[in-house]
Amino acid sequence: MTATATPMKRPAKPAIKLTKLLINNEWVDPADGKSFETYNPATGEVIAKVAEAGAKDVDRAVKAARKALETGPWSRIDAADRGKLMFKLADLIEKNKEELAALESLNCGKTITDARGDLDGVLNTLRYYAGWADKIEGKTVPVRGSFLSYTLRQPVGVVGQIIPWNFPLLMLAWKWGPALAAGCTIVMKPAEQTPLSALRVGELAIEAGFPPGVINLINGFGETTGDAIVVHPDIDKVAFTGHVDTAKIIQKRAADTLKRMTFELGGKSPNVIFADADMEQAVNGAFHAIYFHCGQCCTAGSRLFVEEKIHKEFVDRLAAKAKGRKLGDPLDPSTEQGPQVSNEQMDKILKYCDIGQKEGAKLLLGGKRHGSNGYFVEPTVFDNVKDEMTIAKDEIFGPVVSVLPFKSMEEVIDRANRTNYGLAAAIFTKNIDKAHTYAKAVKAGTVWVNCYHIVDTTTPFGGFKMSGQGRENGEDALEHYTETKTVTIKLG
Ligand code: ADP
Repeated sequence: MTATATPMKRPAKPAIKLTKLLINNEWVDPADGKSFETYNPATGEVIAKVAEAGAKDVDRAVKAARKALETGPWSRIDAADRGKLMFKLADLIEKNKEELAALESLNCGKTITDARGDLDGVLNTLRYYAGWADKIEGKTVPVRGSFLSYTLRQPVGVVGQIIPWNFPLLMLAWKWGPALAAGCTIVMKPAEQTPLSALRVGELAIEAGFPPGVINLINGFGETTGDAIVVHPDIDKVAFTGHVDTAKIIQKRAADTLKRMTFELGGKSPNVIFADADMEQAVNGAFHAIYFHCGQCCTAGSRLFVEEKIHKEFVDRLAAKAKGRKLGDPLDPSTEQGPQVSNEQMDKILKYCDIGQKEGAKLLLGGKRHGSNGYFVEPTVFDNVKDEMTIAKDEIFGPVVSVLPFKSMEEVIDRANRTNYGLAAAIFTKNIDKAHTYAKAVKAGTVWVNCYHIVDTTTPFGGFKMSGQGRENGEDALEHYTETKTVTIKLG
C-alpha cells in the first residue's frame, strides 16, 4: 500500500480484450448469456460489458476446480513446482505491470501512482507465498504408547474467494498467494464494480502454466453469483473481504454446509495524536490515514483523536493540507485524489456529510461533490465530533475524517475501543511508554506507531471483534488454507 518509484509518466490507454468467464483455462460465455456494464468512475462512462455468471456457471467452475484438486496434474505436482508456477506468474505480472496498473486505475478510479504501488504489493505477495509452497510442514508427535504419530498439512480444498473493489488486484494476490502455496484450487468472484483487471491476470496465469481448473474467475453480483459460491456444497472454504453486513449474510447462508470461513471486514480505526508527537510527521500521518485512496480503505484512520493541547493547531494544519489536494483524472500522474468507485458510494458519503452537519459536528472543509463529472468527493474534515454521532460510529469509506479532542491516555483508550470494529489503530507520540501502553490496550489486529497504512505481505493482517475472522498475509494465512491430518502407526 505504498507508492512506487516508477517515473511520473501517463500510461497508455489499456485495451479491454477479456470480458468472459474463465473456467478450466477456457474463456466461456455464461449459460444464460447474461452480462453487465462496468464503468470508468472518473467519467461515469461505460467501459465494457462483462459476462455475468449464474449458479450454473458457478457449478461448472466448482466442478473444474474439484477435478483439478483431486485428479488433475495439480493434485500430483511437487510443492516446489507449485512455487515455480507462482514465481512465473509474478514475473509475467511484472512484465505487464504498466498495463495492469492502467487497467486498475481506469476501472477502479485509483490514481495511477497508487495503482502502481498496488502492483508492487501484488508482486511481493505472490513471491512471498511462492517461497512458502515447499515449506508447509507437519510435525512428528511424541504420542503415548507404541505408536508413531505425525501430522500432514493438506490443502483445505476448493476455495471460493469473494473480493471487493477497493484493491482489486492486491486482494486477488492476498487470496491466491496462500491458496496456491497450500495446493488449493480457486473459484474467485471479483467485485462487480471492478471486474476487468483480474481477467487479465487470469490470462497471465494460463500463460504461466497453471493447469486447467486451478484458477477460475467468474464475475457477477453479490446476491446471485456470490451467493451461489457461498451455498455451493462442494466448496470447502470461503474467503471474503467486504462489508460487515455482507459477512453476516454470508455466515448465515454458509451454515448449512459448515464451510471454513475467513472474513476481512471494515473498521472505524482510531488514530491518536499526542501533544508530544512530531507535529509534521503526525499531520502527514493523519492525512495519509484518511485520504489515501479517497478513504476507501478498510483501515482508514477515520476517527482522529487529537490531544486538546494541540487540537486547534493540528486541525488547522490538516485542513490546510487537505485543501491543497489535487483531484482529477486518475491516469494523470500528477493527480493526488481520484473519484470514489461509484455513484452509489459517492451518494452514501455525501449523505454522511449531511448527517454530520445535522447532528452538530463542525464542517471545517469539504462535504461536497467535486465537479459534476465522475464521482469525486472533496476531502472533508469534521471537527468537534462526539463519540455518539453517526459519523464517528459508521464506516463511511470516503475522504471524511472525524476529529475528536481528548485529554488523557486512559480516556482515549476507552473511547478508541468503544466500537464494534477492531481492524487497525495508530498512535503518534515520542514517548515510548505511551506507544506501548496504547499498543497493548487498543483492540485492533494492527497497530501503527508514528506511521499509518504500513501493510506488508510478511505480517499478519485481520480484525478483532466485528472486523473479521482469521488472518491474511504472513505465515498465519496458510493456517486457513490447510487442514491438519494426524496419522498414527502401530509399531512392533
Ligand atoms: P461494498 O459495500 O463495499 O461493495 P460488499 O460487501 O457489498 O462491499 O461487496 C464485497 C464483495 O462481496 C463483492 O464481490 C460483492 O459482490 C460480494 N457480495 C455482496 N453481497 C454478497 C452476498 N450476499 N453473498 C456473497 N457475496 C456478496
